[in-house]
Amino acid sequence: MKDFMPTNPGNRGGNILSCIERSYWTGVQFRPTRMDPSRVLDEQRKRFQNLLQIARARSSFYREKFRHIEAGCSDLEEFPITTKAEMMNHFDQVVTDPAVTRSGVEQFIEDIRNVKQPFLGKYAVSHTSGSQGQPTLIVQNQQVLDLLFAFQMTRGHCGHRGGFFGFLDAVRTLQQPARLAVVINQQGFFPSAWVWQRLPAYMHVYMSFLFVPANDPELVKKINEFSPNVLSATPTTLDLLSLKIDQFRLPKLRQVVTWSETLTPPARQRITEAFRVPLMDNYASGECMFLTNGCPAAPGAHVNADWAILEVVDENHKPVPPGQLGHTVLMTNLANTVQPFIRYEIGDRIKMATEPCGCGNRMPRIEKIVGRVADFFWVQTSAGFRPLTAYPFQHAFDYRREVREWQAEQVERNRIVVRLEAIPGATPDLAAARKRLDERLELAGLRQDLDIHIEAVQYLATDLRTAKFRRMISRIGIPENLEPSLKDVAEDFASEEKVLHASELLIS
Ligand SMILES: [Zn+2]
Repeated sequence: MKDFMPTNPGNRGGNILSCIERSYWTGVQFRPTRMDPSRVLDEQRKRFQNLLQIARARSSFYREKFRHIEAGCSDLEEFPITTKAEMMNHFDQVVTDPAVTRSGVEQFIEDIRNVKQPFLGKYAVSHTSGSQGQPTLIVQNQQVLDLLFAFQMTRGHCGHRGGFFGFLDAVRTLQQPARLAVVINQQGFFPSAWVWQRLPAYMHVYMSFLFVPANDPELVKKINEFSPNVLSATPTTLDLLSLKIDQFRLPKLRQVVTWSETLTPPARQRITEAFRVPLMDNYASGECMFLTNGCPAAPGAHVNADWAILEVVDENHKPVPPGQLGHTVLMTNLANTVQPFIRYEIGDRIKMATEPCGCGNRMPRIEKIVGRVADFFWVQTSAGFRPLTAYPFQHAFDYRREVREWQAEQVERNRIVVRLEAIPGATPDLAAARKRLDERLELAGLRQDLDIHIEAVQYLATDLRTAKFRRMISRIGIPENLEPSLKDVAEDFASEEKVLHASELLIS
């Protein structure tokens, strides 16, 4: 397969020939999902070498970082990882185009009117939400966007057929473009909001769009009038919409797509029961937006391994086999040559599937994604500080039928306010919820130490700063007088085993 490099990113898809060329290129992006995995890995290796060559030649950060590794080395584990903090602290040395600077990008995104403009006339810029701390600035070349859209239309489209049938479908789509409705949480330089502004012109031949803000009072009416084939939103938004399913008239809907937040199993169930179409849950980060496409047959998503490397690793960054939950993940984006992300730590905990997938896609499938490592509070006990994770809350509320969503806020060190939002028409049984939470906290050995207040609320909103819904919010943060050994734990622990380990440390 020939790699595509746009020659004139400013004028995309302007004439019929380039439209045909690009349509063909988009269509063949489906093929690698049916190829022998070893062939996909060959492609991956070639592209990795290509990226390394560019990074070593034009990025002083990577040249220095990889100076002890021989040219041509293809053993991934030889290459040191890069953290978010390193990426931001050395931004100007990481990028391969000297015209791109951190201050230049920061100035550019200061002005919201720039959201539809390419940076320096050719790059797409965005920032991550910073929900785990410092936001990361991201500069992308057009190739990244081309892949993102092409994958969405082929691999992320559950009715897509490859080969000749795919060609026939494409011709049919020319007469009757697909209809995609996107519900946007927040405008701005957030990748999920911004990316749709940069759709190449030729894509509009195949697709018509409706962008509607999640807080639009006429949201349901607008979606009904548009009558989409595909409805795309964050899990929280789609979950809320599924509660209004009686008001929707969507005879042409073929699939729903979620992104940006973790989709919990109960939310998945509510959404699919309401809309009665396959749900494709994309897992991605702003640093590699085309990383996966959702699977129509099983939970999780397939990694686009021909253009990205996803490594599930343990605490020491050693590989964790499929079927086991890793400590963190490393991502390499093989298409972004302007800001290379090579073995870049994303911080999620992932389990890869061991069995081939029933949907026909032969790319590796992420089976499970669990919460971010930061989802916990430090609370004080007679034995010292102890971490309280999201698990007791999850186990207490996630499977209560009348509870749509929960949120815990640490307002003082040991005082936690829990808010429950019921599904419409239901009243949360606060006494039962309380009893269940107490049982869970008892198991964690924290029942006696905490002052917990549970209340029912009408509506749990997404965080204004990050545009994401957060279940665990601490107003207190990490205690200042935490022992140094526990500070490390605070930085990196995530699993229940680790929590136990941390509490043992405290007691001993
Ligand atoms: Zn699948």
